[in-house]
Amino acid sequence: MVLDSPGRPLREAELPDPEPGRGQVRVRVEACAICRTDLHVFDGELPEPKLPLVLGHQIVGVVDEVGDGAGVEPGSRIGIPWLGWTDGECRFCRSGRENLCDHARFTGYQLDGGYAEAAVADARFCFRVPEDYSSLRAAPLLCAGLIGYRALRLAGDAQRLGLYGFGASAHVIAQVARWQGRRVFAFTREGDSEGQEFARSLGAEWVGASGEAPPELLDAAIIFAPVGGLVPVALRALEKGGVVVCAGIHMSDIPSFPYELLWEERAVRSVANLTRQDGEEFLQLAPRVPVETYVEPFPLAEANEALERLRAGRIRGAAVLSIARPGS
Ligand SMILES: [Zn+2]
Ligand SMILES: [Zn+2]
Repeated sequence: MVLDSPGRPLREAELPDPEPGRGQVRVRVEACAICRTDLHVFDGELPEPKLPLVLGHQIVGVVDEVGDGAGVEPGSRIGIPWLGWTDGECRFCRSGRENLCDHARFTGYQLDGGYAEAAVADARFCFRVPEDYSSLRAAPLLCAGLIGYRALRLAGDAQRLGLYGFGASAHVIAQVARWQGRRVFAFTREGDSEGQEFARSLGAEWVGASGEAPPELLDAAIIFAPVGGLVPVALRALEKGGVVVCAGIHMSDIPSFPYELLWEERAVRSVANLTRQDGEEFLQLAPRVPVETYVEPFPLAEANEALERLRAGRIRGAAVLSIARPGS
């Protein structure tokens, strides 16, 4: 499914199989989860995507061709995440912050991704997929899980954790947070009683609409919804010294707010991308919790519909493209 230009529906196309270059592998894609970021690229909210482009950066597939020096066994099942390439030598890469690499390239944005039957990737940035998960259920771990995990880490040792927007990321991270012994407060769109019930079933002790004040102040809040107006709302719900973590790559403008909301050492910060270490850590942790992912599968040809369902907030857990091998 090809994006010719932002704002136009994806087009179903027959493309030649991509050939892996040096250090790369090609996979037969089995599943590719859909991320809010895909929608931002699709809508033209992120600058200068590769065009035409294959979206998708939560890819699980089986290696069927190995480029020189890639060092991966054919037949192994791997995950391909958002971080597709870094230069390895800028000041960020050399200080353990490859997520901020000056020249990073991202899957499904500057590199073709996984809304396809085949994809190539630099083997150094791929992950082993935990065996306990089917490809369909593993796919959302690769960004919703991973970036959510990084956001959770940046929330520090917060005991009372607020999650604003209970989508794919929050549904994974709520489980990890509970397992770590934290208390979870979930905020959804107003009137989304199904979403609130879902959050409760995953361990949230309190659920409410995003404008509501929680029964206690929060030590940290993670905002997954791309809504800048939630920043002052979350600050208002925050205990002294607490942090608001913005987990998305794009957000509408943050309205101005009185300084007193930030006073007393409250902080607002963002989370950008992932490091390979985040991925290794999280993918080892997920089966230990164990994180259970809730997925709504769509055939590849229905990628447009899946994106629109995500936009409308009508996905429970994560939307995942389930991709059958041609002829099977
Ligand atoms: Zn770098
Ligand atoms: Zn993502």
